Amino acid sequence: IIYLDNNATTAMHEDVIEAVHQSNMLYGNASSMHMAGRQAALAIEQSRQALASLIDEESSSIVFTSGASEANNTVFNIFKERIDLGSKRNRIVTTTIEHPSIIETVKYLRQLGYNVDECPVDSTGRVKMDVMNKLLGDDVALVSVMLGNNEIGTIQPVAEIARLAHQTGAFMHTDATQAIGKIPVSMRELGVDYLSLSAHKFYGPKGVGALVVKAKAPYAPLVHGGHQEGGKRAGTYNTASIVGMGVAASIAQRDLDMERKKLWKLREMLRVGILERISNVVVNGNQEHCLPGTLDVSFPHAEGESILLYLDMEGIMVSTGSACASGSLEPSYVLLASGVDIELAHGSIRFSFGRYNTEQDVAYVLEKLPPIIKRLREMSTR
Ligand code: PMP
Repeated sequence: IIYLDNNATTAMHEDVIEAVHQSNMLYGNASSMHMAGRQAALAIEQSRQALASLIDEESSSIVFTSGASEANNTVFNIFKERIDLGSKRNRIVTTTIEHPSIIETVKYLRQLGYNVDECPVDSTGRVKMDVMNKLLGDDVALVSVMLGNNEIGTIQPVAEIARLAHQTGAFMHTDATQAIGKIPVSMRELGVDYLSLSAHKFYGPKGVGALVVKAKAPYAPLVHGGHQEGGKRAGTYNTASIVGMGVAASIAQRDLDMERKKLWKLREMLRVGILERISNVVVNGNQEHCLPGTLDVSFPHAEGESILLYLDMEGIMVSTGSACASGSLEPSYVLLASGVDIELAHGSIRFSFGRYNTEQDVAYVLEKLPPIIKRLREMSTR
Protein backbone atom coordinates (compact mmCIF):
# COMPACT_ATOMS: atom_id res chain seq x y z
CA ILE A 1 0.00 0.00 0.00
CA ILE A 2 1.35 3.37 -1.01
CA TYR A 3 -0.01 6.19 1.08
CA LEU A 4 0.42 9.55 -0.61
CA ASP A 5 -2.27 11.46 1.29
CA ASN A 6 -0.20 12.78 4.18
CA ASN A 7 -1.74 16.26 3.96
CA ALA A 8 -5.11 14.69 4.80
CA THR A 9 -3.60 12.93 7.79
CA THR A 10 -0.52 10.97 8.78
CA ALA A 11 0.01 7.60 10.40
CA MET A 12 0.99 7.92 14.04
CA HIS A 13 4.70 7.46 14.73
CA GLU A 14 5.37 4.24 16.67
CA ASP A 15 6.80 6.23 19.60
CA VAL A 16 3.58 8.27 19.64
CA ILE A 17 1.46 5.11 19.69
CA GLU A 18 3.51 3.81 22.60
CA ALA A 19 3.25 7.13 24.49
CA VAL A 20 -0.52 7.31 23.95
CA HIS A 21 -0.84 3.73 25.13
CA GLN A 22 1.20 4.38 28.28
CA SER A 23 -0.55 7.63 29.12
CA ASN A 24 -3.97 6.03 28.81
CA MET A 25 -2.96 4.52 32.13
CA LEU A 26 -2.72 8.05 33.60
CA TYR A 27 -6.41 7.99 34.37
CA GLY A 28 -6.49 10.86 36.87
CA ASN A 29 -8.29 14.04 35.93
CA ALA A 30 -5.44 16.48 35.31
CA SER A 31 -7.35 19.15 37.23
CA SER A 32 -7.55 17.01 40.39
CA MET A 33 -5.22 17.92 43.24
CA HIS A 34 -4.42 14.35 44.29
CA MET A 35 -1.53 12.29 43.02
CA ALA A 36 -3.32 10.68 40.06
CA GLY A 37 -4.37 14.12 38.87
CA ARG A 38 -0.91 15.59 39.40
CA GLN A 39 0.71 12.79 37.38
CA ALA A 40 -1.58 13.51 34.42
CA ALA A 41 -1.02 17.27 34.79
CA LEU A 42 2.75 16.77 34.79
CA ALA A 43 2.62 14.74 31.57
CA ILE A 44 0.46 17.43 29.97
CA GLU A 45 2.89 20.18 30.98
CA GLN A 46 5.79 18.24 29.48
CA SER A 47 3.87 18.09 26.20
CA ARG A 48 3.20 21.80 26.37
CA GLN A 49 6.96 22.39 26.66
CA ALA A 50 7.73 20.10 23.71
CA LEU A 51 5.14 21.79 21.52
CA ALA A 52 6.33 25.27 22.55
CA SER A 53 9.90 24.33 21.69
CA LEU A 54 8.86 23.08 18.24
CA ILE A 55 7.30 26.43 17.35
CA ASP A 56 9.79 28.61 19.27
CA GLU A 57 7.26 30.11 21.66
CA GLU A 58 6.55 30.35 25.41
CA SER A 59 4.71 27.30 26.68
CA SER A 60 2.24 29.60 28.48
CA SER A 61 0.93 30.69 25.05
CA ILE A 62 -0.39 27.23 24.20
CA VAL A 63 -4.09 26.43 24.49
CA PHE A 64 -4.84 22.77 23.77
CA THR A 65 -7.82 22.23 21.47
CA SER A 66 -9.44 19.39 19.55
CA GLY A 67 -7.49 20.38 16.45
CA ALA A 68 -6.92 23.20 14.01
CA SER A 69 -10.60 23.59 13.09
CA GLU A 70 -11.40 24.48 16.69
CA ALA A 71 -8.30 26.70 16.92
CA ASN A 72 -9.32 28.60 13.76
CA ASN A 73 -12.90 28.94 14.97
CA THR A 74 -11.68 30.21 18.33
CA VAL A 75 -9.67 33.01 16.70
CA PHE A 76 -12.56 34.20 14.57
CA ASN A 77 -14.89 33.93 17.57
CA ILE A 78 -12.59 36.19 19.60
CA PHE A 79 -13.00 38.91 17.00
CA LYS A 80 -16.71 38.20 16.52
CA GLU A 81 -17.12 39.00 20.22
CA ARG A 82 -14.66 41.88 20.19
CA ILE A 83 -15.82 43.74 17.12
CA ASP A 84 -18.61 46.11 17.81
CA LEU A 85 -20.36 46.28 14.46
CA GLY A 86 -20.79 50.02 14.87
CA SER A 87 -17.16 50.69 15.81
CA LYS A 88 -14.36 51.89 13.56
CA ARG A 89 -12.07 48.85 13.71
CA ASN A 90 -14.58 46.33 12.45
CA ARG A 91 -13.09 44.50 9.46
CA ILE A 92 -11.39 41.10 9.11
CA VAL A 93 -9.03 40.30 6.22
CA THR A 94 -8.25 36.75 5.10
CA THR A 95 -7.62 35.00 1.76
CA THR A 96 -9.62 33.06 -0.81
CA ILE A 97 -7.68 29.80 -0.31
CA GLU A 98 -7.91 29.22 3.45
CA HIS A 99 -9.00 25.87 4.84
CA PRO A 100 -12.80 25.34 5.03
CA SER A 101 -12.66 25.83 8.81
CA ILE A 102 -11.96 29.47 7.99
CA ILE A 103 -13.83 29.86 4.67
CA GLU A 104 -17.07 28.55 6.23
CA THR A 105 -16.57 30.61 9.39
CA VAL A 106 -16.22 33.69 7.18
CA LYS A 107 -19.51 32.84 5.42
CA TYR A 108 -21.21 32.54 8.79
CA LEU A 109 -19.79 35.83 10.06
CA ARG A 110 -20.93 37.60 6.90
CA GLN A 111 -24.45 36.28 7.44
CA LEU A 112 -24.32 37.91 10.86
CA GLY A 113 -23.36 41.21 9.25
CA TYR A 114 -19.59 41.18 9.77
CA ASN A 115 -17.30 42.75 7.25
CA VAL A 116 -14.76 40.23 5.94
CA ASP A 117 -12.50 40.68 2.91
CA GLU A 118 -10.81 37.77 1.17
CA CYS A 119 -7.55 38.78 -0.48
CA PRO A 120 -7.11 37.11 -3.88
CA VAL A 121 -4.09 34.99 -4.82
CA ASP A 122 -2.03 34.83 -8.01
CA SER A 123 -1.88 31.86 -10.40
CA THR A 124 0.57 30.08 -8.07
CA GLY A 125 -1.64 30.55 -5.02
CA ARG A 126 0.45 33.36 -3.46
CA VAL A 127 -1.37 36.27 -1.86
CA LYS A 128 -1.48 39.30 -4.14
CA MET A 129 0.50 41.69 -1.97
CA ASP A 130 -0.61 44.82 -3.82
CA VAL A 131 -4.24 43.94 -3.06
CA MET A 132 -3.36 42.94 0.52
CA ASN A 133 -1.75 46.34 1.01
CA LYS A 134 -4.94 48.06 -0.14
CA LEU A 135 -7.13 45.88 2.07
CA LEU A 136 -5.13 46.66 5.19
CA GLY A 137 -6.09 49.82 7.04
CA ASP A 138 -6.90 51.26 10.42
CA ASP A 139 -10.38 49.70 10.30
CA VAL A 140 -8.96 46.13 10.29
CA ALA A 141 -9.10 44.17 13.55
CA LEU A 142 -7.76 40.78 12.41
CA VAL A 143 -5.71 39.46 9.50
CA SER A 144 -5.66 35.68 8.98
CA VAL A 145 -3.41 34.08 6.36
CA MET A 146 -2.46 30.40 6.26
CA LEU A 147 1.23 29.49 6.22
CA GLY A 148 1.14 26.50 3.83
CA ASN A 149 -1.82 25.52 1.71
CA ASN A 150 -3.17 22.00 2.25
CA GLU A 151 -4.00 21.43 -1.40
CA ILE A 152 -1.33 23.04 -3.56
CA GLY A 153 1.33 23.54 -0.87
CA THR A 154 1.92 27.23 -1.56
CA ILE A 155 3.68 29.03 1.30
CA GLN A 156 2.56 32.58 2.03
CA PRO A 157 4.76 35.50 3.11
CA VAL A 158 3.19 35.44 6.57
CA ALA A 159 5.99 37.33 8.37
CA GLU A 160 5.74 40.19 5.89
CA ILE A 161 1.94 40.33 6.11
CA ALA A 162 2.16 40.24 9.93
CA ARG A 163 4.50 43.22 9.89
CA LEU A 164 2.13 45.21 7.65
CA ALA A 165 -0.90 44.17 9.71
CA HIS A 166 0.77 45.31 12.93
CA GLN A 167 1.66 48.66 11.37
CA THR A 168 -2.05 49.31 10.92
CA GLY A 169 -2.84 48.10 14.45
CA ALA A 170 -4.46 44.79 13.45
CA PHE A 171 -3.78 41.41 15.09
CA MET A 172 -2.38 38.58 12.97
CA HIS A 173 -3.32 34.89 12.84
CA THR A 174 -1.78 32.10 10.79
CA ASP A 175 -3.08 28.59 10.24
CA ALA A 176 0.23 26.69 10.31
CA THR A 177 -1.39 23.24 10.30
CA GLN A 178 0.27 22.02 7.11
CA ALA A 179 3.65 23.64 7.75
CA ILE A 180 4.44 22.12 11.15
CA GLY A 181 7.08 19.40 10.90
CA LYS A 182 7.69 20.16 7.21
CA ILE A 183 9.35 23.58 7.31
CA PRO A 184 10.78 25.52 10.29
CA VAL A 185 7.95 27.36 12.04
CA SER A 186 8.98 29.98 14.57
CA MET A 187 6.13 31.95 16.07
CA ARG A 188 8.64 34.62 17.03
CA GLU A 189 10.06 34.97 13.52
CA LEU A 190 6.63 34.94 11.93
CA GLY A 191 5.63 37.68 14.35
CA VAL A 192 2.03 36.46 14.54
CA ASP A 193 -0.29 36.84 17.52
CA TYR A 194 -2.17 33.56 16.96
CA LEU A 195 -1.15 30.26 15.37
CA SER A 196 -3.24 27.11 14.77
CA LEU A 197 -1.98 23.54 14.49
CA SER A 198 -3.24 19.96 14.53
CA ALA A 199 -1.28 16.92 15.80
CA HIS A 200 -2.43 14.38 13.21
CA LYS A 201 -0.65 16.25 10.43
CA PHE A 202 2.73 15.54 12.05
CA TYR A 203 2.36 11.88 13.11
CA GLY A 204 0.43 12.65 16.29
CA PRO A 205 -3.07 11.56 17.28
CA LYS A 206 -6.25 12.85 15.66
CA GLY A 207 -8.62 15.11 17.58
CA VAL A 208 -5.96 17.15 19.34
CA GLY A 209 -4.19 20.37 18.42
CA ALA A 210 -3.53 23.83 19.74
CA LEU A 211 -4.18 27.49 19.38
CA VAL A 212 -1.06 29.41 20.31
CA VAL A 213 -1.88 32.87 21.63
CA LYS A 214 0.58 35.64 22.49
CA ALA A 215 0.10 36.98 26.01
CA LYS A 216 -0.84 40.47 24.76
CA ALA A 217 -3.39 39.25 22.19
CA PRO A 218 -7.13 39.45 22.94
CA TYR A 219 -8.85 36.23 23.94
CA ALA A 220 -12.35 34.88 24.44
CA PRO A 221 -13.12 31.19 24.99
CA LEU A 222 -15.16 29.26 22.45
CA VAL A 223 -15.87 26.49 24.96
CA HIS A 224 -17.07 27.78 28.34
CA GLY A 225 -17.08 25.64 31.47
CA GLY A 226 -14.32 24.46 33.80
CA HIS A 227 -11.11 26.34 34.51
CA GLN A 228 -8.84 24.24 32.33
CA GLU A 229 -6.21 26.10 30.27
CA GLY A 230 -6.52 29.12 32.55
CA GLY A 231 -10.18 29.49 31.58
CA LYS A 232 -9.29 29.67 27.89
CA ARG A 233 -10.74 26.30 26.90
CA ALA A 234 -13.00 24.25 29.15
CA GLY A 235 -13.21 20.47 29.20
CA THR A 236 -11.40 17.62 30.95
CA TYR A 237 -7.90 17.23 29.53
CA ASN A 238 -7.47 14.63 26.80
CA THR A 239 -4.31 13.44 28.54
CA ALA A 240 -3.29 10.60 26.22
CA SER A 241 -3.73 12.61 23.03
CA ILE A 242 -1.94 15.64 24.43
CA VAL A 243 0.97 13.43 25.51
CA GLY A 244 1.00 11.88 22.03
CA MET A 245 1.14 15.34 20.45
CA GLY A 246 4.07 16.26 22.70
CA VAL A 247 6.03 13.20 21.61
CA ALA A 248 5.16 13.93 17.96
CA ALA A 249 6.38 17.51 18.45
CA SER A 250 9.74 16.35 19.83
CA ILE A 251 10.20 13.95 16.91
CA ALA A 252 9.19 16.66 14.41
CA GLN A 253 11.75 19.04 15.87
CA ARG A 254 14.50 16.40 15.96
CA ASP A 255 13.93 15.20 12.38
CA LEU A 256 12.89 18.42 10.65
CA ASP A 257 15.96 18.94 8.47
CA MET A 258 16.10 15.34 7.39
CA GLU A 259 12.37 15.13 6.68
CA ARG A 260 12.29 18.33 4.76
CA LYS A 261 15.06 17.20 2.40
CA LYS A 262 13.59 13.76 1.97
CA LEU A 263 10.06 15.02 1.23
CA TRP A 264 11.33 17.49 -1.35
CA LYS A 265 13.46 14.82 -3.04
CA LEU A 266 10.52 12.42 -3.37
CA ARG A 267 8.22 15.18 -4.55
CA GLU A 268 10.71 16.29 -7.19
CA MET A 269 11.27 12.71 -8.36
CA LEU A 270 7.56 12.35 -8.89
CA ARG A 271 7.14 15.75 -10.53
CA VAL A 272 9.99 15.20 -13.00
CA GLY A 273 8.87 11.62 -13.68
CA ILE A 274 5.29 12.69 -14.43
CA LEU A 275 6.46 15.45 -16.78
CA GLU A 276 8.69 12.96 -18.59
CA ARG A 277 6.10 10.24 -18.95
CA ILE A 278 2.78 12.05 -19.41
CA SER A 279 2.11 14.77 -21.94
CA ASN A 280 -0.10 17.79 -21.35
CA VAL A 281 0.03 18.06 -17.55
CA VAL A 282 -0.02 21.18 -15.40
CA VAL A 283 1.78 21.36 -12.06
CA ASN A 284 -0.23 23.61 -9.75
CA GLY A 285 1.00 25.88 -6.99
CA ASN A 286 4.24 27.75 -6.48
CA GLN A 287 7.40 25.80 -7.22
CA GLU A 288 9.64 28.10 -5.17
CA HIS A 289 7.47 28.75 -2.12
CA CYS A 290 6.11 25.25 -1.62
CA LEU A 291 5.67 22.75 1.19
CA PRO A 292 8.30 20.09 0.51
CA GLY A 293 5.98 17.08 0.36
CA THR A 294 3.08 18.46 -1.69
CA LEU A 295 2.65 17.96 -5.44
CA ASP A 296 -0.62 18.98 -7.07
CA VAL A 297 -1.04 18.14 -10.74
CA SER A 298 -3.85 18.66 -13.25
CA PHE A 299 -4.36 16.12 -16.01
CA PRO A 300 -6.57 17.70 -18.70
CA HIS A 301 -9.17 15.33 -20.19
CA ALA A 302 -9.05 13.04 -17.17
CA GLU A 303 -11.39 13.44 -14.18
CA GLY A 304 -9.68 13.74 -10.79
CA GLU A 305 -12.09 11.35 -9.08
CA SER A 306 -11.59 8.71 -11.77
CA ILE A 307 -7.81 8.96 -11.45
CA LEU A 308 -8.14 8.66 -7.67
CA LEU A 309 -10.28 5.52 -7.92
CA TYR A 310 -8.05 3.84 -10.51
CA LEU A 311 -4.96 4.60 -8.42
CA ASP A 312 -6.77 3.23 -5.35
CA MET A 313 -7.31 -0.05 -7.22
CA GLU A 314 -3.53 -0.22 -7.64
CA GLY A 315 -3.04 0.39 -3.90
CA ILE A 316 -2.02 4.05 -4.29
CA MET A 317 -3.82 6.54 -2.09
CA VAL A 318 -4.03 10.17 -3.17
CA SER A 319 -6.57 12.96 -3.00
CA THR A 320 -8.38 15.29 -5.38
CA GLY A 321 -8.71 18.96 -4.72
CA SER A 322 -12.42 18.75 -5.29
CA ALA A 323 -14.92 18.24 -2.55
CA CYS A 324 -15.80 14.69 -3.51
CA ALA A 325 -15.89 13.72 0.16
CA SER A 326 -19.05 15.76 0.49
CA GLY A 327 -20.56 13.92 -2.47
CA SER A 328 -20.72 17.07 -4.58
CA LEU A 329 -18.20 16.77 -7.40
CA GLU A 330 -17.26 20.44 -7.12
CA PRO A 331 -14.01 21.60 -8.70
CA SER A 332 -11.29 22.73 -6.30
CA TYR A 333 -12.03 26.21 -4.93
CA VAL A 334 -8.32 26.66 -4.27
CA LEU A 335 -7.45 26.14 -7.94
CA LEU A 336 -10.39 28.24 -9.12
CA ALA A 337 -9.24 31.06 -6.81
CA SER A 338 -5.78 30.77 -8.38
CA GLY A 339 -7.38 31.39 -11.76
CA VAL A 340 -6.95 27.81 -12.98
CA ASP A 341 -9.33 26.82 -15.77
CA ILE A 342 -12.42 24.94 -14.52
CA GLU A 343 -11.57 21.80 -16.49
CA LEU A 344 -8.07 21.69 -15.02
CA ALA A 345 -9.54 22.30 -11.58
CA HIS A 346 -11.69 19.17 -12.08
CA GLY A 347 -8.77 16.99 -13.08
CA SER A 348 -6.33 17.72 -10.28
CA ILE A 349 -4.62 15.18 -8.05
CA ARG A 350 -2.74 15.93 -4.85
CA PHE A 351 0.17 13.68 -3.98
CA SER A 352 1.36 14.40 -0.44
CA PHE A 353 4.41 12.66 0.94
CA GLY A 354 5.31 11.71 4.48
CA ARG A 355 8.13 10.16 6.47
CA TYR A 356 7.18 6.60 5.58
CA ASN A 357 7.34 7.05 1.80
CA THR A 358 10.25 5.71 -0.23
CA GLU A 359 11.76 6.11 -3.68
CA GLN A 360 10.21 2.74 -4.55
CA ASP A 361 6.79 4.29 -3.90
CA VAL A 362 7.52 6.98 -6.48
CA ALA A 363 8.74 4.40 -8.99
CA TYR A 364 5.55 2.39 -8.51
CA VAL A 365 3.35 5.45 -9.06
CA LEU A 366 5.33 6.33 -12.18
CA GLU A 367 4.67 2.84 -13.49
CA LYS A 368 0.93 2.78 -12.74
CA LEU A 369 -0.14 6.38 -13.40
CA PRO A 370 0.65 6.86 -17.14
CA PRO A 371 -1.58 3.98 -18.40
CA ILE A 372 -4.42 5.19 -16.15
CA ILE A 373 -4.26 8.71 -17.59
CA LYS A 374 -4.01 7.28 -21.11
CA ARG A 375 -7.09 5.09 -20.62
CA LEU A 376 -9.15 7.91 -19.09
CA ARG A 377 -8.17 10.31 -21.86
CA GLU A 378 -9.19 7.76 -24.48
CA MET A 379 -12.54 7.33 -22.75
CA SER A 380 -13.15 11.09 -22.55
CA THR A 381 -12.51 11.66 -26.26
CA ARG A 382 -14.60 8.75 -27.42
N1 PMP B 1 -6.13 23.95 8.44
C1 PMP B 1 -5.49 23.29 7.48
C2 PMP B 1 -4.58 24.06 6.57
C3 PMP B 1 -5.67 21.91 7.32
O1 PMP B 1 -5.03 21.28 6.34
C4 PMP B 1 -6.55 21.24 8.20
C5 PMP B 1 -6.79 19.75 8.06
N2 PMP B 1 -7.15 19.35 6.77
C6 PMP B 1 -7.20 21.96 9.19
C7 PMP B 1 -6.97 23.32 9.29
C8 PMP B 1 -8.16 21.33 10.15
O2 PMP B 1 -7.54 20.42 11.00
P1 PMP B 1 -8.44 19.45 11.87
O3 PMP B 1 -9.31 18.70 10.89
O4 PMP B 1 -7.46 18.54 12.53
O5 PMP B 1 -9.23 20.27 12.79
